Order: sequence, then structure tokens, then C-alpha cells
Amino acid sequence: MEQVRSNRKGAKLRISEIYSSLQGEGLLTGTPSVFVRASGCNLRCWFCDTPFASWHPEGTYYSVDEILTQVAERHTGHVVLTGGEPFIFANLHELCHGLRSAGEHLTIETAATIYQRLECDLISISPKLSGSAPDASHGSWQRTHNQRRQRLDIVRKLMSEHPYQLKFVVDNLGDAREMLDYLQELGPYDGQRVLVMPQGTQQAELERQADWLVPWCEHYGLQFCPRAHIAWYGNLRGT
Ligand code: SF4
Repeated sequence: MEQVRSNRKGAKLRISEIYSSLQGEGLLTGTPSVFVRASGCNLRCWFCDTPFASWHPEGTYYSVDEILTQVAERHTGHVVLTGGEPFIFANLHELCHGLRSAGEHLTIETAATIYQRLECDLISISPKLSGSAPDASHGSWQRTHNQRRQRLDIVRKLMSEHPYQLKFVVDNLGDAREMLDYLQELGPYDGQRVLVMPQGTQQAELERQADWLVPWCEHYGLQFCPRAHIAWYGNLRGT
């Protein structure tokens, strides 16, 4: 199954949505930002909260210039290029270069299973743990997801090239322990940049998870990362 879409120079990128909101996760939480969501993903997490950009990708094909125009119209000074998985687009560098040339602070969100040399100000890496795999009812996607989900070599390379944050989705204690094993294998990292996020799309569910996960993160010197946009807006698309 092809992972990177070899779109030629000047080709269009499929975008599911472009909108302004506050960054709800990570080191830049609370920062007014324009979100550009690439549609399509090479993984299939069971808990994906943007299935319209992964399981059932939808969207409009825009040229880089058209995306730059839409971002400029919403100007906030910060852009979050997210997905889906933005790295599946082979000409992503044109968009990143255009955004940074326009003076935007650029965050790219990725599961880091595909590599490209890109320009950005923050790479937000979300490695997928074994519990992210879909169940067997999804046919070959369970196997494909597990074959693709971890690329330590790519994670290390991106961390060496950009300011980074590592963002893990944790659903239970087993996930949390697996994350510690992952970090040990990964090698040197800054615990201030390791963000541990509870799995869930409802505020009550996230608060229940926080009860055990906050002290657990403190114990291991990692950062608990609330999904603030759920508290602010609920689980609403375009927020
Ligand atoms: S990597 Fe992200 S976009 Fe892709 S399926 Fe997993 S959660 Fe969804």
C-alpha cells in the first residue's frame, strides 16, 4: 500500500478543513492559530478523533497558493498543519516554505512514520502505541497499522532537526508503561517536552483519566497534557 502521495510540483493537496481556533493541546496551548487539516492517513487508530481525515477521508483539493491565501485571510501568526497525516503529501515542503516565508510560526503534527525534510518551528510527534491498533474486524488495517506505526529512526531524526514535543495518547496503565519502555528505547529526550494526553472525547471521561494520570506523570517527570479544546468547546469539529 502506497504511503507517500507522489504529487508533482505545484500539485494540489487534499485538505479537509481550514479554520481558526485556540490550540488546545501541547506546549502552545491557548495560542490563537489557523489549523490546516490534510486529509488522508497511512494509519488507522481505533480512537481517531478525525475519521473524516483518516478512515473516511474527505476534503477539497487546494493548490499551495490557495491554502496560503486562506491562511492569510485568517491571519493569527501561528499555523498548525495537522491531519490525518500531512507527511503523506510529497510536496508538503512547498506549503511549509510558503507559510514560513509569510512569517507564520508553523507547527506540524505527525505520527512520524514517514520522513520528509521540512521547515517548521515546532514538530509535534505523536507516536502510536500498540493499543492504538484497530480490531480484527477492520481486515488488513490491523496488520498494516501495526507494521507502520513505529519508526524510532524517523522520530529521532525529526527530534534532531526541529524543536519538538512528543505527545502520547494514553488510555490505561498498560499504555502508560509501554510509553516508558518506548522512551527508554528512544534515547535522550527532554521530559518537559513529553506530553501525556488522556484518551477520550468527553470532558467527564478526560477528568476520570486525569485522576490517576496527573500523579503518574509527576512521578515520572513527564507533562500531563489536558485536551483543553474539549473543555472549552466540547468535541466539536472546527474547534
Ligand atoms: S495517526 Fe492520527 S489521523 Fe491517523 S488514524 Fe491515528 S489518530 Fe487518526
